[in-house]
Amino acid sequence: MKKILVIEDEELIRNNLMDILQDEGFKVINAENGHQGLDVAITEKPDLILCDVNMPGLDGHGVLNILNQDPTMAAIPFIFLTAKATKDDFRQGMELGADDYLTKPFTKPELLKAIASRLKKQFTKQQRYRAMQEFYNIELQHAKEQLNYLSHYDHLTKLPNRLALRELFRQAKSLETEKEQLVTILCLSLDRFSQINENLGYQFGDLLLQAVAQRIQSCVSLPNKVVRLDADRFAIILATTKHKKDAVKIAQTILENLSQTFNLSGQEVFITASIGMAFYPRDGQTIEPLLKNATIAMVQAKRQGGNQYQFYSVAFHIGFSDRLALQTSLRYALERQELEVHYQPLVSLKTGKIVGAEALVRWRHPEKGLILPGKFITVAEETGLIVPIGEWVLRKACQQAQIWHNNGFAPLRLAVNISGRQFNQIELRQKLVHIIGQTGFNPRYLELELTESLLVQNVEVAIKRLKGLKTLGIKIAIDDFGTGYSSLNYLQQFPFDILKIDKCFIHRLVAHTNQAAITKTIIQMAKNLNLRVTAEGVESPSQLSFIYRHQCDEMQGYIFSRPVPAHEFEQLLKSKKRLSLPRMV
Ligand code: C2E
Ligand code: MG
Ligand code: MG
Repeated sequence: MKKILVIEDEELIRNNLMDILQDEGFKVINAENGHQGLDVAITEKPDLILCDVNMPGLDGHGVLNILNQDPTMAAIPFIFLTAKATKDDFRQGMELGADDYLTKPFTKPELLKAIASRLKKQFTKQQRYRAMQEFYNIELQHAKEQLNYLSHYDHLTKLPNRLALRELFRQAKSLETEKEQLVTILCLSLDRFSQINENLGYQFGDLLLQAVAQRIQSCVSLPNKVVRLDADRFAIILATTKHKKDAVKIAQTILENLSQTFNLSGQEVFITASIGMAFYPRDGQTIEPLLKNATIAMVQAKRQGGNQYQFYSVAFHIGFSDRLALQTSLRYALERQELEVHYQPLVSLKTGKIVGAEALVRWRHPEKGLILPGKFITVAEETGLIVPIGEWVLRKACQQAQIWHNNGFAPLRLAVNISGRQFNQIELRQKLVHIIGQTGFNPRYLELELTESLLVQNVEVAIKRLKGLKTLGIKIAIDDFGTGYSSLNYLQQFPFDILKIDKCFIHRLVAHTNQAAITKTIIQMAKNLNLRVTAEGVESPSQLSFIYRHQCDEMQGYIFSRPVPAHEFEQLLKSKKRLSLPRMV
């Protein structure tokens, strides 16, 4: 039997209602004011409540309001009885969640109809309540997940962030069932990313990071994980590596993938990355030392020129303190005349003859022996020592080349590298004029090699400077092309004469068809821009054959000669050594 609670302060109406309802077979309970109504409702849990709106003390709205705070009570169908059904009353009641309104006086059929339809719907209402509860739970769950997501995921790349690292490492470790399995932590950082931000804008930088994240992820399959650490740094947790070489394979794939051109909002970008690797348990027991060591290895990879991977080695720590010592002793290197210039032949691919020499600085350290520029040029850049060093190299090389000219090797060209700091010196042109005057070397045979990164920092100023230098007759070469980030289209605005394709392209030519295609395109585009194209780092006959077939103009590489001291270079000139050119098929 259904139980109906009638809350009505007017006795006559209350009794009348009770009579009707009892006649209809309902069990009826009643209350004569709001407070009493609430008590009865809570103790009796009726199946339906009829409640007058206008009552002294707690009125109908108040009753409903309180009942609504208890979900089980809120589920009971609630019908308002009112004498004056103003729109406001109605709205307020409905907002409170009343199920119906009966305006007094109402007829018996009206009353029964309202009750019947509400009782029928009671189940639905409870269901609705339960559904709502479920919905709230889901919402809550969702909010929790959202919070978890926000705190553990990076919004830009949608990758897990640094906070997720520990948990991901724990998961990776738990997968490690076999003894010989390794967990590898990779720390990856883009080379020269800050320059992209500075030169092409942060928005572009963000786009690039998203694309980079995607590429990295495409090289790493589950259960291995990619994490964005900060800015341009990513961590990769390899859970399934059995041997070092498995990790190397993945690192190589990532480097290879990243070095493919990015095409973002109409701009072509080349970028490379450096990767450091640390192994659990060898290089650390927890994620913190592992990541630290992977980072040290990554920095080492960057120092060695980037676009490569390095394993963590305890020796790197020694390398660090060495660096300080390096800085100090480099200061004295110039004074003590410990620097030397070596020369590497530039060879024509038309004749196979030596047509020029690139001057490359070396440091003959009294204890450490011959140090290559890769080890000290960055330090020299950082300390500003590159300015006097560069000037010394320039003077020394011009003197030497002039001697060779005097000895009958007249059209021999001389290429000299110019660093960013040197290029940014206002007095650079003045210094060149001075050196040319002092040495008597004809500037028509002088080529200055610049890297794109130092040119795109302030394009207009750079172009003006380059033009200024060119009025002296000097030629300008863009060095290490492909390791920076600019497309040829972008560089078209600079007055270059020569383009030197970086050796990393040449080295990967044969194994990677993509690299070959890119290199082919670079050569083609450079030719269209009337640039002379030099391939750097040619070591093997197959590389030589490739650049020959694709009509590079000149080459430089170990296949012909390493950089050598001046007297050895002279021997090469005198011996008329020639590159044996591949036969055209
Ligand atoms: P770079 O200007 O791109 O010079 C070419 C580098 O490639 C040289 O390295 C050369 O030894 C190396 N190389 C040439 N052929 C091959 C080859 O077949 N295989 C391989 N693996 N490498 C080859 P190096 O002498 O160690 O110089 C490294 C960089 O240091 C130079 O790259 C240049 O950027 C910088 N550098 C050298 N001398 C100077 C200098 O006097 N001033 C400035 N600012 N930078 C310099
Ligand atoms: Mg160079
Ligand atoms: Mg180069």
